[in-house]
Amino acid sequence: MQSARYYKKEESGVARCILCPRQCKIKPSAFGYCGVRKNVGSVEAGAELVLPYYGMISAIAIDPVEKKPLYHFLPGSKTFSVGYVGCNMHCPFCQNYHISRNLGVPLEYVSAEELIARAKASGCPSIAHTYSEALIHLEYLEECMSLAKKNNIANLLVTNGFIEKDASAILLSLCDAVNVDIKAWDKAFYERELGGKLETVLAFVEAAVSAKVHVEATTLVIPGKNDDPEQTESISRFLAGLSADIPLHLSAYRPMYKYDLPATPASTIIKLKSIAGKNLKYVYEGNIYESSADTKCPKCGTVLVKRYGYNVKTIGLKGDFCANCGAKSPIITKFD
Ligand code: SF4
Repeated sequence: MQSARYYKKEESGVARCILCPRQCKIKPSAFGYCGVRKNVGSVEAGAELVLPYYGMISAIAIDPVEKKPLYHFLPGSKTFSVGYVGCNMHCPFCQNYHISRNLGVPLEYVSAEELIARAKASGCPSIAHTYSEALIHLEYLEECMSLAKKNNIANLLVTNGFIEKDASAILLSLCDAVNVDIKAWDKAFYERELGGKLETVLAFVEAAVSAKVHVEATTLVIPGKNDDPEQTESISRFLAGLSADIPLHLSAYRPMYKYDLPATPASTIIKLKSIAGKNLKYVYEGNIYESSADTKCPKCGTVLVKRYGYNVKTIGLKGDFCANCGAKSPIITKFD
């Protein structure tokens, strides 16, 4: 059984996991909250944290990179997408609750070497760790990402950003692009309803930017929960404080898992997009198709990347510059 890192041995055989801010105190024979880190120690012998789900994969698919969503990293490319089980938060609107709660989904063991070999054979320029929360599988991720780097494959991470700083630094040093959920600008909502901490997520975003990882952010907009314009204003102001070039995806919620609130109206997303657009240069709608998802040059309005669903064409760039006005573009079109 693969050993876990990021834990401390406490009295009576208890393991205190320090990977995420939950800092679970795990008794012998028990799992931590995320359901993937287990104490196989005993009162007599002391704690021993292991990873019964090391390399256990719930899904592999080849997706458009835009589906993550990442709009400014190798637009129009496909990404070798990998999913796991478990989660360290408990969002009641989880879109993938069958895997995040590990509800009997079939799993396949794939070693890191095999995963990279499959990714390479797929011809995709990147691997995305996505679908469920990958951070809680940090040891496996680190092994896969290190191997991907050696094979010139880009490492993408789609995450809730709920991880302690020391552990995140290791991963971010291997990551090329991340999409981080900023699920709300409301500390109480984050803690009570989602089981996370807003300040930890914001620190993760800041650390990713400092580590020179390409960053995009997503907010799933839920009626009556986080659709207050002041929340979008605060999220966009925070991101703009790091860089006004960070893309923000505002996605419409649909009833799922424990939430049966009505779906977010398109008009809400459009209104919030215009609020965020005062602070950020690139704000995109998700799960609605009311207006264009094209990327335009903020200086002259030329379409740089044309999107029609997942049909994506880079048409207005000359190298890293707008082909019309010559303004520098933040879109990453090459990985080597
Ligand atoms: S990673 Fe899992 S076991 Fe560790 S503190 Fe977080 S929820 Fe608990």
